Amino acid sequence: MLDPWKAYFSPSSEDILYEDSQVIAFKDRNPQAARHYLVVPKVNIKGVEELSRIHIPLLDHMIQVGHRILNTTNLLPHQYRMGFHIKPFRSIPYLHMHCLLLPFRNTWQRIRFSEALPFGGFISAIRLLGKIQR
Ligand SMILES: [Zn+2]
Repeated sequence: MLDPWKAYFSPSSEDILYEDSQVIAFKDRNPQAARHYLVVPKVNIKGVEELSRIHIPLLDHMIQVGHRILNTTNLLPHQYRMGFHIKPFRSIPYLHMHCLLLPFRNTWQRIRFSEALPFGGFISAIRLLGKIQR
């Protein structure tokens, strides 16, 4: 299949913010913060657990695209979040990076995208990149 991501995501053309040969970025259909975008690789990756050193350039590129669509040069670090759901929170079996401009819509969303939970749930893109590089 040429576009495996299309089995899981179907953004309308006006919701697409960025696209190149490696990734596509679009508005989350169900925004959980002031702005909420997803960056999705075109190569079929089921989730964070599948990532290894060979994916460093791709993950790095996804992060660059995230900065670009959130326009983070005008933001402070606490004003946005970029990262991935990990067990037990993962919902879609296809890798996708959440890009959020804060504030969150409610407390539950703040918890779902927090790295502070003892059982996991979310990992920031930068921390994930560091983990893979090791
Ligand atoms: Zn998710």
